[in-house]
Amino acid sequence: MAALAILVSCSKGKDTSYEISYRVSFEPEDHYIDVRMRYVPAKPDGKAVTFKMPVWAPGYYIIMDYPKYVTGFEAFESSGEPAAWSKSGKNSWVINSSGALDIHYKVFADAVSVADSKVTAEGAFIAPNGVFLYKDIDHPVSVAFTLPDKWKTISTSLPFGDGVYSAEDFDVLYDSPFLIGDHLTKSIEQDGIVYEFAVQRPEGFEESPIAGDFMAGVREAVRMFGDTPYESYHLLLLGRGPGGLEHQSSQADYTAGHWDFETREAYLSELRFMTHEYFHCYNVKAIRPIELGPFDYDKEVFTPLLWFSEGITCYYESLLLEKAGVETPQEHLDFLARYIKDTENTEGRKHMSLRQSSYDIWLNFFNRSANASATTISYYVKGPVLGFLMDLEIQRISGGKKSLDDLMSLLYWRFHKEKGRGFTEDEFWAAAEEVAGGGLGQIRRYVDTTDEIDYDQILTPAGLTLDKETWTLTRN
Ligand SMILES: [Zn+2]
Repeated sequence: MAALAILVSCSKGKDTSYEISYRVSFEPEDHYIDVRMRYVPAKPDGKAVTFKMPVWAPGYYIIMDYPKYVTGFEAFESSGEPAAWSKSGKNSWVINSSGALDIHYKVFADAVSVADSKVTAEGAFIAPNGVFLYKDIDHPVSVAFTLPDKWKTISTSLPFGDGVYSAEDFDVLYDSPFLIGDHLTKSIEQDGIVYEFAVQRPEGFEESPIAGDFMAGVREAVRMFGDTPYESYHLLLLGRGPGGLEHQSSQADYTAGHWDFETREAYLSELRFMTHEYFHCYNVKAIRPIELGPFDYDKEVFTPLLWFSEGITCYYESLLLEKAGVETPQEHLDFLARYIKDTENTEGRKHMSLRQSSYDIWLNFFNRSANASATTISYYVKGPVLGFLMDLEIQRISGGKKSLDDLMSLLYWRFHKEKGRGFTEDEFWAAAEEVAGGGLGQIRRYVDTTDEIDYDQILTPAGLTLDKETWTLTRN
């Protein structure tokens, strides 16, 4: 998303042909978000104007069809007269108007998902894609709130000033969720950058080492790239529920609903999860397949490289914590061994390659068919295995001079910072072989095909042993 920011900054501020601003209020008892949009064209031209709502959210690779939650749509001229409107598609509204418009609609918000909004008496989580209509993505927008009395705090990565939250364009707005209510906030400054933890269920949070351990992982990532792709970083930590979603300057995660974990495993699981979503601010938001931005919010965006964006992020969620000394080396190996075991114990690995699982994620994000595990694989499972093997191969071929860290850094600086774009599949593999200083054809074959993986061939030279009876991984 920062790459997009670079691209759009050239035209930023140039489009003064209209203004869009929002005021948002809530009906907590009925789980509604009340949205009022003001559209003001500089020179009314008498033409109809079309507004759209995204049907999906980047990072959540499934069609969400957000407009199904929109109700009570109304449009008014500045005179107060109703303006005629009609739908021109499932996510587009055409309004006949010669000038400024006030548009009003409500959004039903009662789903427990990081890609959906939720409003209760306690507060609101706003997933912006399903709330705000756009005319052009590359256009600035502001959002103001009217809150119920008990809601005191708004946590988001968007800057606040003059009573409004401002986004330079709708890509940024859609990448900036809000947590609103009376939640705990805790700020930690590290290397001159503020990290805000917004915690909806704070039981045990202050006593837990999790914020400090998270920051130790952050330090390792920043050291690896020598750069931070955000001005400040915000963790929106919601109540009990599943899933997390990455953003350029924030993450929104459902959690265990408390922070006094009973086991080390449960603690590490939550910490790795937060570290995973954080690492995405580099890998997928900055380091990205070329198909992932600028986004088409009307339909699916296919890429064969999500195994890298997600699988390698899984690999680093543990590796960063091991480098930081938060995880022991054996805990990291146990983490990897579990993924190897799960990969090898899935029948689907014989029928779907890792590359194919990336492309077909739009079919399988929530594929609960009875035969799903027998016919498909998850890049969240086989992806970190290939990330690990690729790291070992880069280290071996380069004689220990390079590692996967160097590939990540090269992709970040060459494509995100210098070119301001993502990379093609061929560019990715060429960069990987450039860093290794030799061929990675075997790794690519394990990604592109369903060939059986010869673990010993890669693990043994690295001084590692995989016991396939117990699925344990040990350093010799
Ligand atoms: Zn992820």
